[in-house]
Amino acid sequence: MNLSKRVAVAQSVGIDIGGTKTLALAVSSDGTIRSRRQHDTPKGEVEIAKLVVELYRELANSDLTMPLGIGVAGLVDRSGRLFNAPNLVAVDGFKIADLLKPHLTGRLYVDNDANCAAYAEVHQGALRSVSNGLLITLGTGIGGALLIDSRIRRGAFGMAGEPGHMIIQPGGLLCACGNRGCWEAYGSGAGLRNLALERIKSGRLEVIADLIGTNYAALTGELIAGQANAGDAQTLELVEEYASWVARGLVNCSVLLDPEVIVIGGGIASDWALFGSRIQKWFQQLTQNAPLRQTIPVEPAVAGDAAGALGAALMCHLDTSGIQTS
Ligand SMILES: [Zn+2]
Repeated sequence: MNLSKRVAVAQSVGIDIGGTKTLALAVSSDGTIRSRRQHDTPKGEVEIAKLVVELYRELANSDLTMPLGIGVAGLVDRSGRLFNAPNLVAVDGFKIADLLKPHLTGRLYVDNDANCAAYAEVHQGALRSVSNGLLITLGTGIGGALLIDSRIRRGAFGMAGEPGHMIIQPGGLLCACGNRGCWEAYGSGAGLRNLALERIKSGRLEVIADLIGTNYAALTGELIAGQANAGDAQTLELVEEYASWVARGLVNCSVLLDPEVIVIGGGIASDWALFGSRIQKWFQQLTQNAPLRQTIPVEPAVAGDAAGALGAALMCHLDTSGIQTS
């Protein structure tokens, strides 16, 4: 049975704790957002826990039996401890469930933000009618979530569905994790920048090189997308190369997981006409001659920037392998 058919008739609160913003939503069982609050994410774990409790109480109208789902920008192990959270460094190791439990009487779920976004796609997006699918988020890094046999899988230590650090180019570009040649060093937003810098150094990205001069901080995805959409041939070559790297990683994922669909979220998906079409083209090229492979669609995520909070709320209703503390 598809997960979307199991949504109970209840309301829940979903809170997405991001590196800079915390978004909280009260969501009804059909996925309708009833109310919304946004706040800057504070620095310390006690302050974050306090903010979460405040937002929850406000959105739950003091009905403290209402389930609460939390998505965080980092990995969450099976005890509810946050780790490997490069955008929430101050709270790495944060036992978020332990800090919240004394303040709640309802069920509490905690999972990483990509898994939460996948629940939103399961409910109303490109994962809605499938039992096996893959969500890949192409942001600063690469996140992922695995839908296998209608369940989001977390693995033994909460690390499942994080393919950004599979090595795709031995001895290649340095990744934020310290390894070389990870997919993330080529296929993420940071990877796009890496590839652009290589081209600038070899004189193959002249318009952008002239625009930024020595101010490499100005080399952003938006700048690259803008020049590509304006028709600059060298920038389009860069985008083409980037799409090929994304597609290589997707091929490896599909060989391992045999999904029915691959859904792409994150900043890259917001310019689907530029990036998505090329990623789709490269993916089809790389898989068309593969023996025993089905041709599968690569589609954009639909839930947008509220996906993490919406999915966190829906996680409370959907059959889940996330951390449940009740
Ligand atoms: Zn890595």
